[in-house]
Amino acid sequence: MKVLFYSIKNYERKILQEANKNRFHLTFKEEVLNLETAFLARGFEAISIFTNDNASEDILRILHSVGIKYITIRSTGYDNIDLIMAKELGITVSNVPDYSPESIAEHTVMLLLNLLKKNKMVQNQLAHQNFSLDNIIGETIHNKTIGIIGTGKIGSIVAKILSAFGANIIACDTVMNKTLEKNYNVKYVSLINMAYNSDIISIHTPLNEYTHYMINHDLMSRMKNNVLIINTARGSIVNTKEIIENLNKKNIGGYATDVYEFEKGIFFYNHSQSRIKDKMLTELMNMDNVIITPHQAFATKEALSRITEITFENLTSWYLRKEIKNKISDVEYKLMTI
Ligand code: NAD
Repeated sequence: MKVLFYSIKNYERKILQEANKNRFHLTFKEEVLNLETAFLARGFEAISIFTNDNASEDILRILHSVGIKYITIRSTGYDNIDLIMAKELGITVSNVPDYSPESIAEHTVMLLLNLLKKNKMVQNQLAHQNFSLDNIIGETIHNKTIGIIGTGKIGSIVAKILSAFGANIIACDTVMNKTLEKNYNVKYVSLINMAYNSDIISIHTPLNEYTHYMINHDLMSRMKNNVLIINTARGSIVNTKEIIENLNKKNIGGYATDVYEFEKGIFFYNHSQSRIKDKMLTELMNMDNVIITPHQAFATKEALSRITEITFENLTSWYLRKEIKNKISDVEYKLMTI
């Protein structure tokens, strides 16, 4: 079977080739899947895409017209795929549901510790040989109330790690995790209640029509002054314009994020020569109390090897017409395609 891989980065080529073990005929493209590049899939039966590829309605129609029957995404999140249209067109879709939630959970805690210990300012000061402590007094996680939105695979690990630091964890989810309640003293509350009571809020829901702009003016107006917000989920769960306004007004004490609403075309690429033109991202990057990482939480050796392994499991199941364990094309609720 011929498989076209979109959005391939240098770090993936070797590991994918090795894991393939000559099973399939692989073609790697650095191009992102979009209206112009969808035609590259002519002659292939299956494609593999990543988070910044666009598999919205029009693009799926082109893929279908050139013969694509199967899409496997090399990530957990699939908010960039119009699943309803894929189903209508008879295109089967699968993802990598569980590759290394620890990678993202640990990254979340790293971001939080960096915010609390003002590490961005520390590094800026050190660059100017300023070793004074005046502006870099930190805070502990211990005894803080931390609100976790979404206690699925990643959020539940974050809750366990932070509970070991001695934080009081409150959580908000449509499904309550009994183990977290019983063994980690996690209390489930409403989103509004969480906003009022948390010193720190960490986001771990999928992006869908219910969570899009979940963190907005209204919710932020109910949060404690100086609350810290961490986002390792998806950029559009936070209204970026509104969080910048709240950071400027000093309602929000700090924001650390691995994802950005308009990251497509920016994150994952080297812009050191061309420079980025995105004003909101530049403004965020210039703030002392904002930490940005370029969607790298998943990028650990452990996660990459698991993503590759599961991608080939998905491809093999499809090729052998076996049941696909990680099939997502039957998901019933409507997911946003942004
Ligand atoms: P998951 O499906 O295991 O957990 C998500 C949880 O959110 C579930 O428990 C679900 O019930 C809950 N939820 C859904 N809608 C909700 C709502 N409106 N309010 C409250 N809770 C809600 O997902 P996961 O694997 O833990 O992934 C969490 C997020 O992390 C996703 O957005 C995913 O795309 C993102 N992610 C980011 C990276 C990265 O590199 N930064 C890597 C992997 C996943």
